[in-house]
Amino acid sequence: MEKNLEVLPLIPLRGITVFPYMVLHFDVGREKSIVAIEEAMLNEQKIFLAAQKEAKIEEPEEEDIFETGTICNIKQILKLPGDTIRVLVEGESRGKLTKYIEKEPFLKVEVESLVDEDGIKNNKCEALVRSIRKNFDEYIKLSGSIPIDTIVTLEELNNPGRLADVISSYLTLKQEKKQELLNTYEVEERLQKLLDILINEVDILKIERKIGVKVKNKIDKVQKEYYLKEQLKAIQEELGEEDEDKKELAKYKNKISKAKLPKNVKEKALYELERLKSNGGYSAESGVIRTYLDWILDLPWNKQTEDNLDIKSAREVLEKEHYGLEDVKDRIIEYLAVKKMSNSLKGPILCLVGPPGVGKTSIGKSIAHALNRNFVRMSLGGVRDEAEIRGHRKTYVGAIPGRIIYGMKQAKSKNPLFLLDEIDKMSNDFKGDPADALLEVLDSEQNSTFRDHYLELEFDLSNVLFITTANSLENIPRPLLDRMEIIEVSGYTSEEKFHIAKEHLVAKELKAHEIDDDKVKISDSAIQLIIDSYTRESGVRSLERKISSVIRKAIAEIMEKDKKRIILNSTKVKTYLGPEIFTYDKADEEDKVGVVMGMAWTGYGGDTLPVEVTVMPGTGKLELTGQLGDVMKESAKAGYSYVRANAHKYGIEDNFYKEKDLHIHAPEGAVPKDGPSAGVTMITAIISALSGIKVKHNVAMTGEITLTGRVLPIGGLKEKSLAAYRAGITTVIIPKDNEKDLIKIPKTVRGKINYILADKIDIVLENALVKNE
Ligand code: ADP
Repeated sequence: MEKNLEVLPLIPLRGITVFPYMVLHFDVGREKSIVAIEEAMLNEQKIFLAAQKEAKIEEPEEEDIFETGTICNIKQILKLPGDTIRVLVEGESRGKLTKYIEKEPFLKVEVESLVDEDGIKNNKCEALVRSIRKNFDEYIKLSGSIPIDTIVTLEELNNPGRLADVISSYLTLKQEKKQELLNTYEVEERLQKLLDILINEVDILKIERKIGVKVKNKIDKVQKEYYLKEQLKAIQEELGEEDEDKKELAKYKNKISKAKLPKNVKEKALYELERLKSNGGYSAESGVIRTYLDWILDLPWNKQTEDNLDIKSAREVLEKEHYGLEDVKDRIIEYLAVKKMSNSLKGPILCLVGPPGVGKTSIGKSIAHALNRNFVRMSLGGVRDEAEIRGHRKTYVGAIPGRIIYGMKQAKSKNPLFLLDEIDKMSNDFKGDPADALLEVLDSEQNSTFRDHYLELEFDLSNVLFITTANSLENIPRPLLDRMEIIEVSGYTSEEKFHIAKEHLVAKELKAHEIDDDKVKISDSAIQLIIDSYTRESGVRSLERKISSVIRKAIAEIMEKDKKRIILNSTKVKTYLGPEIFTYDKADEEDKVGVVMGMAWTGYGGDTLPVEVTVMPGTGKLELTGQLGDVMKESAKAGYSYVRANAHKYGIEDNFYKEKDLHIHAPEGAVPKDGPSAGVTMITAIISALSGIKVKHNVAMTGEITLTGRVLPIGGLKEKSLAAYRAGITTVIIPKDNEKDLIKIPKTVRGKINYILADKIDIVLENALVKNE
């Protein structure tokens, strides 16, 4: 090995090891290094490059720089923006740093250049060279990152040391390994080290490749499937078969063109179909689009049924399907007649108001039947969100149209009779008032362009005949109420119930149970018994249920005991239904002191409300017992005050309250009662008790009272009258202001009861108290 000493500028390199014969470029930014370059350029353009032991050191000292480096020729320098210089160098020979000559303004060192001798000295060396070549070939193949022609260049190299250096410069190795190779001056030793490293690297590459193949195999499989699918598609196309997606798209297209949609709806449908096409069959979005298209296609945009405006046949249908309800039927016929005349069914919406089970829904159905329209029913009970009427926007997950559009889909025609049940049971919350949305639905001026949030299209509701039902008028939002024509359907008398049961319910239930009417027969007395003792309601719903229940039990018995037929009489009903559940207050047999029959309105219709008052020595306390509601307690107190203020008028000692206690008691029936109509009853009972004058046993009364003795009107007169009638009362005292309601009372009842109109409590007392005592 030849050795020469040279003095050269040094540049410490960070993270790079330069081998002799290697060509590379690197960037120089450090002040000292730039000066070193400049110095080198002024001389022989030679520089000594040695690696730093740790790359991060900014100002390396002697001990931070490896002693062995490479003497290089600078081939080119390029100024880069920001005081950086890019230097292209070519390694010339290995160099060993022997001395630092200067450290400022740049590192100047004395270097011993070490040049390898040419030629192969011995067989061992030859063997090493061959092995290295072989392994490097393999390395090139496996790594794939070294240009193949490198091999050709290497073929020509016959200096083993140089060969080692060139190969070393090509390997991707850790810096310390590279430095180690550079540090090895002895050629044979260097070759040996390089061979070890190469064998190891080749090994690693082989393992890497194995792993790589596995991963690749997986990817290949996916690609293969894709490829096969594409091929399949091509084959199917070739054979004229369409794939599922295409079939589906075609199906929709066909449906859309057949559906006779209005122009804008069709456009929208085709637009969505286009979106479905571009979304592909399996995306979440395409599911949404499909549902939407189904909705559009299912709606009766243009389907219509022919109206039957033949008033006579409409009347027949109504009569056939419902007993009684004369005024309701009349109103409906009038309504239809007007519609027929004006040739449109626009106009106020009918609202049937009455207690549950009086046939509001079923008469609605009959009207549809009579008119030959499809019937849909939607309950508004519990609806409190505008979106329930008008739908959710499609952007909501799982959005669906509102109930109106839902109903229209069920209706299957654009002119159904749409029954909106329980319109008084809607409420509102922070999500908007459903009543507002309903206003639009019911408004004939607006509803031809009803817009559902989900549908995003206008739907024409102007041909729909809306009928609403409610239990009471109180809770119907005012603006809605203004748009409706109210038809009251009040409760039935026991006679009416009897007719309804006999003429409708029994037959209906027998039919529902598919049993011949000669197998199970219900006697009149049994029906009456069920009405009186097993039901308490204004309508006939639980009557219907009880009838159904006895029929079921009869069928069971027929089956079980092999009977031919069963006659359901009172005794049978009692064994089937158990002990009687309800008994009614009956009017007392004789006149009594302090006992007055009042009347109240409950959720189940009218009921009698007896009030009892007793007087006992005491200190003027007023005691109230029985299940009196708050309003009734107020009535009792007001009545008491009135009596104290007017005691003398009725022959009662002025200061009675100083030494007497009063106890007012309202015996609780099966149903809780409350309401502002017990004032007159309380006063009458108190006065009777204090004065000792008896109250007529066949008189019942209702009315609220002011402190000056005026009698105020009450509600539910018909229901109350029915209750009094049922209890055997013959005289009913009512507020004078309720006179107008008398015509609503069924004739049978009006014929049997003597109504007395009272505007002042005096009139009530005059008629209720037994005279001459
Ligand atoms: P609502 O809607 O007023 O609560 P429904 O219409 O549900 O009452 O009536 C309950 C049941 O009673 C139905 O089976 C109905 O046919 C029957 N019904 C009610 N009133 C009559 C009637 N006047 N004639 C015949 N059946 C009736």
